[in-house]
Order: sequence, then C-alpha cells, then structure tokens
Amino acid sequence: MSRAYNFSPGPATLPEPVLRQAQATMLEFGDCGASILEISHRGPDFIAVAQQAEADLRTLLSIPDDYAVVFAAGGATTVQALLPLNFAAPGQACDYVVSGHWGKTAIRQAAHCVDARTAASSEAGGFRDVPARADWQLSPDAAYVHLTANETIHGVEWRDAHLSEAVEAGNAPLVADFSSSIASEPLDIAKFGAIYAGAQKNLGPVGISVLIVRRDLLERSGQPRAPIFDYAAQARAESMLNTPPSWNWYVLGLTVKWMLDEGGVAEFARRNARKAALLYAAIDGSGGYYRNEVAPGARSRMNVPFFLHDPALDRTFLDEAKQAGLVALKGHRVLGGMRASLYNAMPEAGVQALVDFMREFQQAHG
Ligand code: PMP
Repeated sequence: MSRAYNFSPGPATLPEPVLRQAQATMLEFGDCGASILEISHRGPDFIAVAQQAEADLRTLLSIPDDYAVVFAAGGATTVQALLPLNFAAPGQACDYVVSGHWGKTAIRQAAHCVDARTAASSEAGGFRDVPARADWQLSPDAAYVHLTANETIHGVEWRDAHLSEAVEAGNAPLVADFSSSIASEPLDIAKFGAIYAGAQKNLGPVGISVLIVRRDLLERSGQPRAPIFDYAAQARAESMLNTPPSWNWYVLGLTVKWMLDEGGVAEFARRNARKAALLYAAIDGSGGYYRNEVAPGARSRMNVPFFLHDPALDRTFLDEAKQAGLVALKGHRVLGGMRASLYNAMPEAGVQALVDFMREFQQAHG
C-alpha cells in the first residue's frame, strides 16, 4: 500500500517533503560525514539546526521578543507537570478551565504540589462546549489560569468570541495548551503568559515539546525542583542543559520551514477552515447518518469526532475506509465512534476523499 491519508490524532501525518528531506539526511548530514543522528548537539552543525528552528518558529508564530522559547524533551504532559513547579509557589492556587480530557490531565499533573482548582468545567454536559465565561470561578490569588485551546479527543476548541473572552478573563497570566492547534491560524501570543505544545501534531515528530513563555514569568521562583526541570535555566542554556532530542528538533525545524514555505499560518488558517467546513457539512448533511455533538461555536477545526447512527457499523466503516486509503479514523476510547484529525499537513484532497467515502458508505450501508 502506498501512503494513505492519515487522520491520526498524533503522532500525526507529516508533510511528505519533510519526510523525504529527513530520509535524505539520515545517512549523511551536510558535509558532516555522519548522520544528523550521530553528531554532537554542541557542534556547529547541530547548533545551526537548533537556532534556525527557533528563528523560523519565531517568524511563523510572530513570537514577541519578550517571550522565550524552550524546546524540551518529552510531551505536553511533561510540560503540564512542570508548569506549577516553575510558575506557582508551593500550595498556591492555580485555576484550570476544563473543556475536555486534556484539561483534566493538566490538573492531575499539578494537584500534588499546588492547589489546582477547577475554575470551570463543561464535563457535566459531556464536554460538548467550552465553559461559559460567566460561569468561571477565578481565584483572586491564582498563579495562572490554564485552559486547553483545542481538546484533541472531544473536538472542542476555543474560538472567536469564546477565545477573546478567555484571554481577557483575569489578572493571572493565561497559560494555554496548544498541542493540537498551534500554528493552525494566526494567534496573538502577547495575550498569553505562556503557550505550549507537544510537537507531534502540527509541529513535527513526537519526543519534543515547545514552551513559549513571557520572560518575566521565568523570574518566578516557583518551588523546589531539580535543575533539569527549571525552565529559566533551560532558557538560559538555549534548551541544552543536557542532550536534547536532536533528531526530533531537526524534524520539527523542517516542518516549521515547510509551513513558512507554504505561506505561513494565515494560509493554513484558510486551508484549515475549508477542510473543517467540508467535513462538518458532510456530517450535518447526512440526515443523521453521521453526527457530531459539539456546540457549533466550539467545534474544533483540527479534530472532528463523529458517530455513525449505528455503532454496529463502526468496524465495517474503519475496514472499508482503510481499503479506500483512509487510515486512523477510530475515535479515542474515551468517546468511541470516529475521529478525523485535520492538522496542517492533511491536504484538502484528503478531506475530500474522506467525505466522498462517507457518502458512498452511507449509500452502500444506509
Ligand atoms: N494536551 C493535548 C491537547 C493533547 O492532545 C495531548 C496528546 N494527545 C496531550 C496534552 C498529552 O501530550 P503528550 O502525549 O505529548 O504528553
């Protein structure tokens, strides 16, 4: 089988030119006489790769100069665990606004060392919307307010008016998990104290994450932690306190460069809007054969969970989709059903192929 359209939530589809370039440099990188996997992270060849990746990411996301970028080994969950250690005092209140599974994960990572409070949650409604701003219970003394910009499993995204209200919410800095929507559209980073993302959706390979943090927050003393978990020290050391995941950093850099070459986040915003509109229209226009249960104003452009009217058909749907060259559509076990992830590297032709398949499946099995 040749490469399919891969709707995986992450690790996710990568741009083919990125994979080809990574493949080409696997044996020999430049004139190093060695693979990029085999060279020192402290040598000039890798330092150039690392610095270029940061410079390109700064350009792509218009990161203001008063924000540091930390490239860290591990995933978004690791960042979730390090946020309270770095930015909150022991036992201090931290407010979490929860719109899905990953917001709850963030609380679990923090609860052992701070007073991690659920300031608002849409769980009672099955995480089918973001919690209304009017219902948030913010703590006066919170170290930060945390939200998940896009809930990858529940398909709930902070958009438009919801997002504008959220960023104006309180006095405490807003920290947001952008793991599954970073670089999907323009974003005013200056509205946030920090944003972070595991790379394995829109930024490249798993194994590395990115934290973009306003520099004054790095001056907070936080709480006792090992030096390796100190973001201020990592920022000072240009994310090289120890051996960084150099291959992942390299492929992240290739992916960021590809996004710039394709036209940057404004162009991806247009493509992503068209892709999401196409798929939601197919679901909504199916007469109930397929359904998405998320409130229209909070529907994710990146991850679209949907259900067949008859779950007994799920297995057949997945099997026939695979035969049609459409893979990784199985929903997360928390929700069941299907989920299509439409990250930047998913071409519009892939979404068109999916909606065509869905229509044919409905005709065949209606
Ligand atoms: N936050 C979000 C929004 C996610 O989608 C994920 C993973 N899918 C995580 C956090 C956890 O990321 P990781 O597996 O990289 O720790």
